[in-house]
Order: sequence, then C-alpha cells, then structure tokens
Amino acid sequence: MNLNQLTIKQANDGLKKKEFSSVELTQACLEQIKKTDKKLGAFITITEDLALTQARAVDKKGDFSKSLAGIPVAIKDIFCTAGVKTTAASKILENYIPPYSATVVEKLIEQGAVILGKTNMDEFACGSSTETSYFGQTKNPWDLGRVPGGSSGGSAAAIAADQCLYALGTDTGGSIRQPASLCNIVGLKPTYGRVSRFGVIAMASSLDQVGPMTKTVEDTALVLQAIAGLDKKDSTTVPKEVPDYLAELNHEIKGLKIGVPKEYFVAGMDPAVEKTVREAIEKLEKLGAKITEVSLPHAPYGLAVYYIIMPSELSTNLARFDGVRYGFSAKAKTLFENYLQTRGKGFGAEIRRRIMLGTYSLSAGYYDAHYLQAAKVRTLIKNDFEKTLTKIDCLITPTSPTVAFRIGEKMDDPLTMYLADIFTISINIAGVPAISIPAGFAKPKDGATEMPVGLQLIGKQFDESTILRVAHQYQQATDWHMKKPSF
Ligand code: GLN
Repeated sequence: MNLNQLTIKQANDGLKKKEFSSVELTQACLEQIKKTDKKLGAFITITEDLALTQARAVDKKGDFSKSLAGIPVAIKDIFCTAGVKTTAASKILENYIPPYSATVVEKLIEQGAVILGKTNMDEFACGSSTETSYFGQTKNPWDLGRVPGGSSGGSAAAIAADQCLYALGTDTGGSIRQPASLCNIVGLKPTYGRVSRFGVIAMASSLDQVGPMTKTVEDTALVLQAIAGLDKKDSTTVPKEVPDYLAELNHEIKGLKIGVPKEYFVAGMDPAVEKTVREAIEKLEKLGAKITEVSLPHAPYGLAVYYIIMPSELSTNLARFDGVRYGFSAKAKTLFENYLQTRGKGFGAEIRRRIMLGTYSLSAGYYDAHYLQAAKVRTLIKNDFEKTLTKIDCLITPTSPTVAFRIGEKMDDPLTMYLADIFTISINIAGVPAISIPAGFAKPKDGATEMPVGLQLIGKQFDESTILRVAHQYQQATDWHMKKPSF
C-alpha cells in the first residue's frame, strides 16, 4: 500500500513506530496530487513548501502523541489560512490572502497537521456539484464525466483519490455529506455550535457548520475531537464539554432504536439508491438495532424554507464584498458604478441569483410573507426532529436521492440542482448532527459504471457519539468504505 492510501489512524500508528516519517507521508500525497490533479481539479492552491516545512518540523520534534501530528490534510478554500490565498472559489476573492487563520485551522496546526493546500468548491459554497467554482470543475474520481457533489467537492474528490488523508469541509445544507456520499467517503456535519466557524467565510450564518471529511468513521471521530469545542471568537459555540468520541465507538449497537422517517422514502428517489439503503438498514438490524418507522411531518417543507433563509443570510453576508475593502475591484469612476461593476463581474451567476432572491425576501413588504414565514416553519421542522429523537436514538435516511450526476446535466435548471439536497437540508434547519457513510454502489439511470451510495445517520443535539458509534459498527461489518476508484 502507498503511504497516501493510509487512514489517519494507520498513519499515526506508523509514525509512532517510526516505520516512515511525516516528510515521506507528505511526499506520497504531493506525488499523488501531481499525478492526478490535472485530471481531477480537486485543488485551487497547492502549498507544497508549507507542507514540507510543517512535516520536517514535526519529524524533528518526533512527538506523535497527538493523532493528527504529521498527517497531511486538505482544506476547503472557504477557511481563512494566514498567508495562503483563500478564494471561496470566487473571482471576487481571486487574490485574497487573509492575515489570520480560522480557529479550526489553528487547532489543526497546534496538533501538528501538515497542510497540503486549499480545495475547490462551489462559489461561496453555493451549489451541489462544484460546477459554480470560478476555478473550473472538480471531477468525480469514480467517473470523470460526473460531478463529485458539492459544495465541498474538491475535499471529497481529494480524499477518494488518496491525494490527502483527510479534509475539512463546511455544510450549510449538505455540502459535507452529499459530496461524501457521491465520492464514497465519510462526512460529518456536527451539531450547530459544536465547532467554531470563526475565520470561515460565511454563507448562511444560522446554518453553516464545519466538519471532518475522512476515509473512515474512526478518523472522523479523531478529527472532530481535535476541532470541537467552545471558541470565544464564535458566540454560537457552546461551553459544553467535548466527550471522548473514540471511547464509545466499539460499543455494540444491540437494542439501539433507529428510526426510518417515512417522508424520506418518496417518489423522485432513484430505486437503485433506495434498494441499497434498505439493504444497509437490514444490515443494522442484523447487528441488533431496532428499526422503527417514524414521521417528520414538516420535512417536505425543508427545501422551501432553506431557499428563503439561506439566500437572505447569504445576501447579507456577501454585502461586504464591495470592491472597496478587499478582493477584486472593477475600479470604475464613481463609487456607485464601482459597486455595480465589481459585484456584477466579481460574482458568478448562481451567487447573483441568490443575492437577488435574498434581498427580495428581506425587503419591506415581503419580509413577513417570506422570511418571517420561513422562520416559523423552521421551528416546526426543528420541533419534529426534537420530538422524534426523544423516542429513538438516531434516524437513518439516504444522503442523496441519486448517485453522482453528469457534469453539466443540472446547471441550466437550478430547481433540479436544489433537489439534490432534499435529504440533507432539514438537518441544518434543525441544527442536529448527521453523518454520511459509504453504503454500497448503484448503477445510474444513464450509465454503466456503478457509483457510490451514501447512508445518512442523524442524531440528537450534541450527540455525535451515537451516530459515530452506529456508523463505525456498520463499517466494521462492511467493506464499502475500502473500495477505491480506478480513474
Ligand atoms: N447545495 C446546497 C446549496 O446549494 C448546500 C450548500 C452547502 O451546504 N454549503 O445551497
């Protein structure tokens, strides 16, 4: 096995035993990036010098007691990294170099992480296919004609192609879980407030959450352990103790109650995906879980609520990109002309669409009918999850209604693109944690190559431990997560 194919756990064991150095591990990843990234386009920026400097420093210290020490990571280009270009995949931030790093990036650096570079994504995390990036398309390593999902598509593709051992993503409506599902890796969206968002370029602040993307559930637990917790710089993080996420992974799941929400098995879902997910549910039943059907009656309104709340917050957050303070400037003659041209040329079509939608739903006369109404339905959705999750331990659903679709297929039809997140969006609206794990393969309707299918487990507020445990036990009994693409 090549070093770049290792999991974090395996690499940490090898580093401790001095079987190889962090520099060797880093070089294996850099070589894989050089060999494959022209085809894949997973990275916007590769930080080779930084990575090797960091690796050498960790080797010199020789202390691998922290599980992420000396391990190469890729970071979605939405996290500020001091001295390293951070673009959010937008022309408007094409040459932006932040003076500080996001809290989570600092936490990784404290652990001795090795940063390989910044990964491609949909512009300002708006999309489900990484097609809205200003820096070109990331391809799915399982079929180069298909999308890797989005918005954290670069991070997901990089892991699936063994260019890195793990990555950081963000998830506002599914951007960690959906690409994880489409690329056959693990992706966790923690509870809102569990991980700091400081220094992460904001999309929709009441929905955004940072999370790990890895090859195994065990690795996700390791990364979450390193990044979770209170941050004085993010007032939405909570002073709740961070549990030991590894401690419970190996406990069996006999007797655990898992709910299957009936609203999630609806028309529009690819039958091949449904079959795969039903088989995974049977597997969990064999492992001793008690499966019961439950109902989340307001779930069907999730998408509608999201497409009011998200653009409203997005339009507010993006107001700061005005061509005056930082980033691209059209340098027009008058201030007003400069705003117009900077934003008109600097933002892509999908961003401009969402800014218009958001500004409209917040404007006087429309606010009550749109934003306020959506906020009320949001509470109903949240209550559904809370009520149901008092009776059961976690919920199980597909992550995405289809396997990876073809590049270009949905770009002219935003509504069908938005439907790609139908199973992930309500989770952000409710603020609860959810994980996507590899659960098998299915043939797309329009192709012969079997593509990955992901399974989503949804937990109670701040109870990442239970979904990690169920997911880990499933991985102990299956080998889907070990399958590799041969692109
Ligand atoms: N795909 C969804 C959107 O386009 C979710 C994006 C995200 O989670 N950042 O908004």
